Amino acid sequence: MIDAFVGLGSNINQPALQLSKACRSMAALGNTQLVAISPVYESPPMGPADQPHFLNACAHLRTGLSPGELLTSLQAIETAMGRIRRRRWGERCIDLDLLLMGNLQLKNEVLTLPHPGLYSRDFVLRPLSDLLGREFVMPNGVDIGTLLAVCTTERLEKLNIVLPKGNEPGNPP
Ligand code: ATP
Ligand code: MG
Ligand code: MG
Repeated sequence: MIDAFVGLGSNINQPALQLSKACRSMAALGNTQLVAISPVYESPPMGPADQPHFLNACAHLRTGLSPGELLTSLQAIETAMGRIRRRRWGERCIDLDLLLMGNLQLKNEVLTLPHPGLYSRDFVLRPLSDLLGREFVMPNGVDIGTLLAVCTTERLEKLNIVLPKGNEPGNPP
């Protein structure tokens, strides 16, 4: 089993609901546990500005899947949730990016680990730091706090939303 971290993002079709659905789907993956979910943050879009703000969060998984199998599983969840690719960094009901898998560093035609945007995106580093702490050292040898210090984090707003860790009754939608 290996620890994996997934970045979630959504900015259309009730983003909070989309993040919740994605969490439930990840919790239901075979050979995988959903260990923890970060708080949810709102941020202005990184890509085209004529689209709604994004909601972002990170999930901590523990999995026996290979990196390729996990990426395929995450893409299957995106597809099942109705993700349509229109324009680069454009609006989407769900984006599930594989941020980290243990200390693996790899690059092939379909997968780069760590995720290429991980070290420079505040909307990923902030929720990841909630799960791992600012002292956590990334595969490139730099801790999250140092990476965050060079990002503009004041544009992120922490929201009062708790995402579900599974299918227990009583969870918010
Ligand atoms: P970005 O990757 O910059 O956040 P995006 O999430 O909008 O942009 P997608 O359309 O979701 O991009 O994915 C484009 C491709 O990125 C996918 O087809 C996938 O093969 C590739 N990819 C490479 N590394 C990763 C990774 N670590 N996690 C998710 N997708 C990855
Ligand atoms: Mg992305
Ligand atoms: Mg993606």
